Amino acid sequence: MATFGIDLGTTYSCVAHIDDTGRPAIIKNRPGDDTTPSVVYFESPENVVVGKEAKAVAKIQPDLVVSLIKRQMGKSFEITVHGQTHTPESISALILRELADAAAENVGEPVTDVVITVPAYFGVAERNATRRAGEIAGLNVLSIVDEPVAAALHYDAINAGGTKTLFVYDLGGGTFDTTVIKVSPEEIQVVCTDGDHHLGGADWDDRLAEYLLEQFQAEHPETEAADDEEFLQSLAAGAEDIKKQLSRMQSRRFNARFGGDTSQIEVSREKFEELTSELLERTVTITQRTLRTAAERGITEFDDVLLVGGSSRMPAVTAALESLGLKPRMHDPDLAVAKGAARYALIESIKIRSDEDGGEAPAEVVEEIAAQLDLPVEKVRALAGKRVATVVPRAFGVKVINRVGGREQYTIEHVLRANTPLPAETEPQRFGTAYPNQVEISVEIWEQSGSVESEALEDNEHIAEGVISGLPPLPENSPIDISFQMAADGLLTVHALELRTRKDLRIEVQIKGGLTDEQVSAARNAVARYNVSA
Ligand code: ADP
Ligand code: MG
Repeated sequence: MATFGIDLGTTYSCVAHIDDTGRPAIIKNRPGDDTTPSVVYFESPENVVVGKEAKAVAKIQPDLVVSLIKRQMGKSFEITVHGQTHTPESISALILRELADAAAENVGEPVTDVVITVPAYFGVAERNATRRAGEIAGLNVLSIVDEPVAAALHYDAINAGGTKTLFVYDLGGGTFDTTVIKVSPEEIQVVCTDGDHHLGGADWDDRLAEYLLEQFQAEHPETEAADDEEFLQSLAAGAEDIKKQLSRMQSRRFNARFGGDTSQIEVSREKFEELTSELLERTVTITQRTLRTAAERGITEFDDVLLVGGSSRMPAVTAALESLGLKPRMHDPDLAVAKGAARYALIESIKIRSDEDGGEAPAEVVEEIAAQLDLPVEKVRALAGKRVATVVPRAFGVKVINRVGGREQYTIEHVLRANTPLPAETEPQRFGTAYPNQVEISVEIWEQSGSVESEALEDNEHIAEGVISGLPPLPENSPIDISFQMAADGLLTVHALELRTRKDLRIEVQIKGGLTDEQVSAARNAVARYNVSA
């Protein structure tokens, strides 16, 4: 069975596979493009349109079009369209459905076994939601892989040999992340990662669209253009076009027309960069933070600084990184992630079949897959012979009570730190009971939700809890040891031990607010009933 890599992006998505020459290749969508806007238009109760036609009506039919859904992944978020309630998972499933159907049509075989990419800093809930979206779309999700890892896998495929340290700067349409990765002949290893999931090209578009509107209003003070959806759609589309053109040209003109009023608005690259400098500065701050984290781990030199994500084409990005002393270079910004995911899908399919056979010697498996793909065995072995090692994406901890000047205050004490290599197991950390005569101890597990570790409750998300009960009345501050364990696939287990009675508690973290199996199968039926097209 062939395998496919899917880059399910915030603004654009893309599918790739290993072609019959053994190279990762993009599979074009129905309109013949490499990438598909991640936009869903609920045209009627039965009919769903995904892609550029949907994007073209996003501002005209705001109640029927869903964009940037990836920003909601892993959150409890619902939207009702034509009386049908949707979740981030089911909307993402509609995008995946269209991507898979179009790819299947194009390559002439079913698209079932897939790997889907996620930003490296996605937490447990977002990863789980992404996997669920694949299941709802009727796909067999072999694995979820980090986008920068996929980009590095693709880099490795075209720059094979030696050990390299890479800095990946990924500025997409809706998200930004930075990752330091070591690539060796045997392994791809994430060293550290950081990012902001509310920062991307769409924000640059918004700034420019606002400017265009202001300029239009300045010329036509009486205009009611700001209330007109069609006009706002033309500004949004125009802003993105102009932005892209300004990556190559110094100046562009936008023709705005509303009612009888027209304006020709000139936008220079300089003006555009001035309007958006604060956004770029945010990526620089995160880049510097990542460089510091890498330095703490002994990495101060990079063999390559890879720019991925469509927005890294903006010349200001290269200039900003150069001013930090880095030497960035463009790495197939729109397609590298999908291509690397295609390679990872091959690696995973071999791993899964090797595990199923229970055997250590994957030679027959490799041969079998090579035969199925009609590729030389050495080629498959070369593409698939790579281990992938990642890190804990965000910190995990427990809720504790602090007494400050007689006041009680809850804070989060992190035990498993972000960027610890996976699989990870912490030393037991000592905590104490909060009150005299406690007969039970409740343990709450929280995950860092902001992009930096913080002990404030609002910067963390409650993800699980458990109770050790039936204890004899314990004196205040009786010791409890808590340790965290995270498997390579991100499954988190927490162990708490009350030292006096040696009563303990093991929590396998199930995602709070995630969809149940029943909800997934109901959503799968609902999604299957739609007629999805591009
Ligand atoms: P994501 O994976 O977050 O959806 P992509 O990596 O596909 O994002 O990048 C899409 C973003 O890149 C969009 O905001 C798009 O406008 C922007 N983009 C694409 N080409 C260019 C270009 N030439 N110059 C500037 N921005 C671009
Ligand atoms: Mg992307």
